[in-house]
Amino acid sequence: MRRLPIYFLIDISESMIGEPIQMVEEGLAMIIKALKEDPYALETVHISIVVFAGQARTLVPLQEIITFYPPRFPIGGGTSLGNGLGHLMFELRKNIIQTTTEQKGDWKPIVFLFTDGVPTDDTKAAIAEWKKNWASKSSMVAVSFGEEADLEVLQQLTENVFMFKNTSVNQYKSFFKWVTASIKSSSMSVETGGTGFELTKPDESVISKIDPREMPPKPRFDHNFTVFTGKCQHSQKPYLIKYRRTTQPTMVGGMQMNSLVYRLVGAYLVDSSYFDYCDETGGANKVGTDELQGAPTCPSCGNQYGLSICQCGKIHCCGNEEVSTCPWCGNKGRYGFGEGRIDINSAQG
Ligand SMILES: [Zn+2]
Ligand SMILES: [Zn+2]
Repeated sequence: MRRLPIYFLIDISESMIGEPIQMVEEGLAMIIKALKEDPYALETVHISIVVFAGQARTLVPLQEIITFYPPRFPIGGGTSLGNGLGHLMFELRKNIIQTTTEQKGDWKPIVFLFTDGVPTDDTKAAIAEWKKNWASKSSMVAVSFGEEADLEVLQQLTENVFMFKNTSVNQYKSFFKWVTASIKSSSMSVETGGTGFELTKPDESVISKIDPREMPPKPRFDHNFTVFTGKCQHSQKPYLIKYRRTTQPTMVGGMQMNSLVYRLVGAYLVDSSYFDYCDETGGANKVGTDELQGAPTCPSCGNQYGLSICQCGKIHCCGNEEVSTCPWCGNKGRYGFGEGRIDINSAQG
């Protein structure tokens, strides 16, 4: 039986923390469950998941549906699409059975690429290799989660670039239904003499195909989210604090102006694999504490202040301890409540 390999190449950068990564996790589980009930898919479809932040890893090696167990997704720092593509091509080289005169190989692999941001690494070499070796031997579907992915980069990889409005749980459901239906119709088409790549029609209010001649305007901000990395001083566990970037009207000298503020989305524990997925360079953006609206509690120990800043510049939790110990640098100190603005480094996003 010829296999139809489906690869998911998924961005697990910090901005995916919270609802997006949880929805991806549930969405993948939903896809697997639906495919297990589909006789065509059971026969042909094999699935693999590759994830990338600053570093890329194989989360699930290529395997048939029946043995597939949906994984938990890690989170890392950075959006190294070049690393992600490089790792995907390594997996393709290793696993795809080519058709020769002696044997019928696999059907053309289908790659679903999900990303929500602009690459933080140089993608040129990886894109050149993709075009040379894999663009014609596979079918890629590149999806921008939200409006902030670099559509021009995605368009160099494939003509199938989609924008997914990912602002509600129902939209995620609709999105993953579309992915499931497209995998089903592709696996059905290999059995009925088709091309093995059949995207079904999406709900266009949720998923829209990007026409390269009608590129949407560049988003207003490079990043709609800013994420900070903190550590609990009691458990030493890392956590991410996510803020949404937005504008709000303020009065300046009798004139109404729009000023930039960051509103708290939440604080989320990550496991220590977070640091394995980060690349070496530090966060790029500096944000002033006076621009932040709302402060989280510690998601590990429940301490009242999840965003205390040590003199080393790193963030940790703080509560009623007599003496606080910075889990990053070991510095001990009593914390008062600082007046005025402190600049803090964001993570890479
Ligand atoms: Zn804590
Ligand atoms: Zn410190």
